[in-house]
Amino acid sequence: MEKKNIFAHMQDMEAQMETMRANLGEWKQTVKELMEANQRLTLENEQLRKILKRDAPLDPTVDSAEAEALLATGEGTEEVVGEGYDNLARLYHEGFHICNVYFGHLRTEGDCLFCLSFLNK
Ligand SMILES: [Zn+2]
Repeated sequence: MEKKNIFAHMQDMEAQMETMRANLGEWKQTVKELMEANQRLTLENEQLRKILKRDAPLDPTVDSAEAEALLATGEGTEEVVGEGYDNLARLYHEGFHICNVYFGHLRTEGDCLFCLSFLNK
């Protein structure tokens, strides 16, 4: 193979690698967006299931009168607040922002100071 041909061949390969690099960048962005959408839908699904369960209790051991009495005394309210915090902490540890700046976005650069200050409140 002539030297000139080898060089042209290498330039072609270089151009192809540039294209691949650009494609990979696009795919990374797409995967990131899909993961964020998936997380949002999972959370939404969980919340809808909770609402569904509350409106139509499937647990036969809790009758509606008992549930209403619990609501009336305010018992269980603190539990709900604690649960909300746990959910956010879990979300953060799964790699998502819970701060109001980037909420729901994937954390791609390690810890976020906004999130941490929120968790330490
Ligand atoms: Zn954050």
